[in-house]
Amino acid sequence: MSLPFDSVAILGAGLMGRLMAVTLARSGCKVDVFEAGSADAEGAAARVAAAMLAPLAESAVAPVSVVRMGQHALSRWPELLAPLVQPVFFQREGTLVLWHRQDAAEATRLARVLANTGAQVPELAPMKSVDARAIATLEPSLGQRFAQGLFLPGEGQLDNRALLASLLATLEASPRVTLHWQSPRAPSDFTGAAGQPDWVIDCRGLGARPQWNALRGVRGEVIRVHAPEVSLQRPTRLVHPRYPLYIAPKPGKLFVIGATEIESDDMSPASVRSTLELLSAAYAVHSGFAEARIVEIATQCRPTLPDNLPALRLPQPRVLQINGLYRHGFMIAPAMLDAALEVLTQGHSPLAKSFGMQTQDT
Ligand SMILES: Cc1cc2nc3c(=O)[nH]c(=O)nc-3n(C[C@H](O)[C@H](O)[C@H](O)COP(=O)(O)OP(=O)(O)OC[C@H]3O[C@@H](n4cnc5c(N)ncnc54)[C@H](O)[C@@H]3O)c2cc1C
Repeated sequence: MSLPFDSVAILGAGLMGRLMAVTLARSGCKVDVFEAGSADAEGAAARVAAAMLAPLAESAVAPVSVVRMGQHALSRWPELLAPLVQPVFFQREGTLVLWHRQDAAEATRLARVLANTGAQVPELAPMKSVDARAIATLEPSLGQRFAQGLFLPGEGQLDNRALLASLLATLEASPRVTLHWQSPRAPSDFTGAAGQPDWVIDCRGLGARPQWNALRGVRGEVIRVHAPEVSLQRPTRLVHPRYPLYIAPKPGKLFVIGATEIESDDMSPASVRSTLELLSAAYAVHSGFAEARIVEIATQCRPTLPDNLPALRLPQPRVLQINGLYRHGFMIAPAMLDAALEVLTQGHSPLAKSFGMQTQDT
């Protein structure tokens, strides 16, 4: 890709910032990354996320535009991961959705919503109803515990922390990239004068709130456990009356159990209630979680706009803001990246339009 500019400053080294930086540096651009925190991404939603890539499953809470972006990502992630200097766990073994008898009514409603999404987005692999025997074939360690479920073939997941680490190592290896840690910045710190970067790309997530007032945080609590006795091949979702619960397997017998969804930007530690709910749900899916070891209980807030949709915004010439990735950051990041590249190179994004994504020249 040839770029009509030479240099950029990227604000924020979470998910979008790192992805933009790697892509632009590979295209020959000089890149300066400014991050408020450290290389560990301790302030990024991306560090806490389960990183499931589940467009059909997420259509329970997301519109068709986000589903289309998620479908785009499933084929784009392998292309984006291939040139990175370290391997990143990525798989497309599908999603299994299960429920207990008392949640059958909610499961019926969910199945209707997913069927409706399938009709609107025919490129999605069709979901399948599965009985106890089919569930045991997909996930032998669950045995005959669940009478019914849904299987969503082709959905994916990746290892968020391995991705952040690999993007970082790739940036560190690039002679065109300078990384500035503990360096909070705002777009106004760059005046556009001679010697300044040609573009400022603002990927600060919730850190952009002072300039983008509509952003809000949506609190999520997740628990990481080490469970040598549990074997799950794919993310398993449990229908739950309050929020969709999931168990996402990661390499090394680690499992991410999440996530609460609370309308609050409170970043204080996880509540007892949330912790009990998440751990009970996991134990109800697989009794092997009883002897699991809790590695981490984490809280973060998802950067969210009023309509819960992502947006690209050009608040002033040569400043591009990418934000509002909400609970779908990993699932839609490749679509946001490709649309942002179109805006930077062509001044507008046909891809964003095809997804129904917001781009604003405000
Ligand atoms: C509990 C939870 C579970 C999730 N699960 C999933 C999932 O399964 N699948 C999925 O697709 N998505 C998931 N997400 C969503 C995903 O993590 C986010 O959408 C995504 O991380 C947003 O990316 P971002 O780059 O915009 O922001 P972030 O990843 O939050 O990065 C923003 C970065 O900007 C930095 N920053 C802030 N202010 C400044 C400043 N002034 N100057 C410089 N740097 C600054 C921050 O320190 C941070 O590093 C989950 C999120 C949470 C919280």
